[in-house]
Amino acid sequence: HPVASDASVLADLPAGNLNEAESKAIFARFGVPMTREHVAADAAGATAAARELGGEVVLKVLSRAIAHKSDIGGVRVGLRAEEVPDACATMRQRLKDAGAPDPEGFLVQERIRGGVEMILGFHRDPQLGPVILLGSGGVAAELFQDTTLRLLPISRTDAEAMVEELKAARLLRGYRGAPAADVPALVDAVMAFAAMAGAAGERLLEAEINPLFVLPGGQGARAVDGLAVLR
Ligand code: ADP
Ligand code: MG
Repeated sequence: HPVASDASVLADLPAGNLNEAESKAIFARFGVPMTREHVAADAAGATAAARELGGEVVLKVLSRAIAHKSDIGGVRVGLRAEEVPDACATMRQRLKDAGAPDPEGFLVQERIRGGVEMILGFHRDPQLGPVILLGSGGVAAELFQDTTLRLLPISRTDAEAMVEELKAARLLRGYRGAPAADVPALVDAVMAFAAMAGAAGERLLEAEINPLFVLPGGQGARAVDGLAVLR
């Protein structure tokens, strides 16, 4: 995987929350697997992007000011291209109503189906130092506390042990007839994210992928969301 030095990865990026596309661009440079997606400046660009991706897409507002996009109606899952212009207009209006600045644009993604939703996180603990977190995502994350932490750096054996510590390990192995998930791809994603956090340098305060979809065996994993916070 390409590994860039801290200076080149975060150079020219502002302090504070980055938007989803900016955040994921950092993660992707270290080999974290991503959804297929396009950044669009406006509704026309977003519609063209939806046509290019084909089928049902996910439309999101791109805004550094909005860390939790669904809270303000900034995520629409399962749109057809012809529904995109109205959805963009509605999102723009919702941002206005919320007193947020105009968005940087829109993000159009392939819709991921199936798989197990996980969370990957990084923060700097004032006592411990740089910490990586792995946990259950989606509905499971809301229902029960299921996270595990490690100080960086970590080895592949550490990453494998993190997966095994989670209640979600049973889900990932294939629960009640559901297909087993691609656990090696999850471990690869943890390692890539940890490498990113280690290499990004002191300006990276926090990073999160919520959710990372771990697809059925052999199909890999996909980060569908991303947030990086810089100082
Ligand atoms: P938020 O900023 O609110 O966390 P997300 O990008 O995480 O926004 O999207 C909210 C939810 O929508 C996700 O937790 C996931 O369940 C669903 N979702 C988002 N993107 C996709 C996608 N590309 N495919 C399928 N589901 C998605
Ligand atoms: Mg999210």
